[in-house]
Amino acid sequence: MSTRGCIARLIDRERGQFKGVFHHWDSYPSGLGKTLFDLRRTRFGGSTKDMLKVLIDDHPAGWENINGVDWNLKPGCYYKDDFPGQGNPRCMRPQCRCHGEQGCPPDEFTEENADAEYVYAFTENDSKMLILCPYLKDVFKVQRTFGVEPWDRLILAEIDLNGDEPNWQALNPEELRG
Ligand SMILES: [Zn+2]
Repeated sequence: MSTRGCIARLIDRERGQFKGVFHHWDSYPSGLGKTLFDLRRTRFGGSTKDMLKVLIDDHPAGWENINGVDWNLKPGCYYKDDFPGQGNPRCMRPQCRCHGEQGCPPDEFTEENADAEYVYAFTENDSKMLILCPYLKDVFKVQRTFGVEPWDRLILAEIDLNGDEPNWQALNPEELRG
């Protein structure tokens, strides 16, 4: 399911400023949220800093999909229609948009331009992950609500990445709950 997301560093919490990259598929909390929570603990040994270097700095064009992929494979993407979860071995690798045949240029997402349903905003030196949801008040109605005041009404949840795993399904907006 195409649910657009953003993986970002929180730049200024007071002003709601962030900077990061795009993530195309299944970016709701029980998809990308859970993936980020688990990936930090497993592959990156609890280091938010190390995770963001790979997810943002090393792949500045962003991602088609990182849910359910094998990080022992080299990231890349052949085609825009390399859909995840269709038994295609190409889809087992982390599907970034910069490497592989797709070859997209860097594409920075900020609160000024992020057309995303969910933003996962991290700070490197603590263990928190903010989930911002610009559709929180009106799910699935496309509207630009970043940059509005007060921006913190967009906060869906604040996750302690060192704490117990949250109930991701309960964090999904009702329309997405299975
Ligand atoms: Zn890449």
